[in-house]
Amino acid sequence: MTKVAVVRCSDYDCARVLDATVRAVELLGGVGRFAPPGRTVLLKPNMLSAKPPEKAVTTHPSVVWAAARLVRDAGATAWVGDAPGGASWDGTAKHLEATGIGPAAVAAGAELKDFEAGERDLLTSPDGSPVRRFAIARAARQADAVFSLAKLKTHSLVLYTGAVKNMFGCVPGGGKIRVHQLAATPRELSDALLDVYAAVRPSLALIDAIVGMEGNGPMHGDPRPLGLLIASEDAVAADAVACHIIGYPPRALHMLRQAERRGLGTADLRNIEVVGEPLERCLVHDFVHASSLLPALVPAFLARLITRAVRVDPEIVQELCKRCGLCQRSCPAEAIRGRERLEVDYAACIRCFCCHELCPHGAVALRKSWPIRLYEYSRERRRARKARRVKSQQAD
Ligand code: SF4
Ligand code: SF4
Repeated sequence: MTKVAVVRCSDYDCARVLDATVRAVELLGGVGRFAPPGRTVLLKPNMLSAKPPEKAVTTHPSVVWAAARLVRDAGATAWVGDAPGGASWDGTAKHLEATGIGPAAVAAGAELKDFEAGERDLLTSPDGSPVRRFAIARAARQADAVFSLAKLKTHSLVLYTGAVKNMFGCVPGGGKIRVHQLAATPRELSDALLDVYAAVRPSLALIDAIVGMEGNGPMHGDPRPLGLLIASEDAVAADAVACHIIGYPPRALHMLRQAERRGLGTADLRNIEVVGEPLERCLVHDFVHASSLLPALVPAFLARLITRAVRVDPEIVQELCKRCGLCQRSCPAEAIRGRERLEVDYAACIRCFCCHELCPHGAVALRKSWPIRLYEYSRERRRARKARRVKSQQAD
């Protein structure tokens, strides 16, 4: 059985987060298993955008600080590194500062690694993936061990992002756009993400679910307090438990199902032993999923037939757009046109939702077709009914 530790942590007070992190790692056999003295451990947070911690876009600095302290106290060397999303021209330094991750890492005695500026290795994907070759930050492969310090969030394209998808940040900026170009559908992207995960496989996954993100993540959803830290040496299993907690059947997600098929971990809850907090007490029955849930779960052949009816389109909200150009530079299909007034060319758009994910001003909305709105309406009603039922059962 694969162990996944689930521990309570009510807020981001540093002492409480450190205590919860120590408890989670103890439940998995102790820090010595993951960070032996004298070794170098790369801590890979989610640093998608230069947003403050309270937006719940990035791994909270307290979690980075606690993990770095744990590694240092064990006698190992801690590195902290990531590459921000898209074709950001702001550089990693701005992201480290704005997210609080940089100062937290330094305060815990960790060394910062800039994946954008550092050297890269070119790797070849296994057969079957549409992405033949991709670059990985060399630091991620030089470390003796890697910890995935992920954030639990919804994701507009692949529905959920956690410990496995977090490793995509080891691909420096322009490389991520190329992956989106070649792997345009949720399934193709999931396969490519697994290639990256297989190349930089973390020995410990620690998911920051103290405050997660619901709705249209990973950038513009809403913070959702969950009060949990989830840890495992199998990032796929950690993600499976996280998905179960927020109401996604883990094996309905192509990324987790495929990870299991490829022998990269287990997503089958029957083969996972949850230690720490009883799982049934952690379930969140009214967690709001991403708008693209229906199209992402519809089988490809059916999607082609009903593509006009079941679709989500990105739309630039002109009143919010600051014309910074980040979406244009990051669009893998070059489907965002214009200078003064940006518009999406829907014939060229591959619906990767990178523009929605990366726009720092929340100016890219997701426009849903009416069958999706109808489906979401009935789903939310069902979930609200279930949440009320569970609450009244707990009260009895
Ligand atoms: S939509 Fe967002 S990312 Fe694109 S130009 Fe406008 S503000 Fe910038
Ligand atoms: S317009 Fe947005 S959703 Fe469409 S391809 Fe470009 S980045 Fe992706």
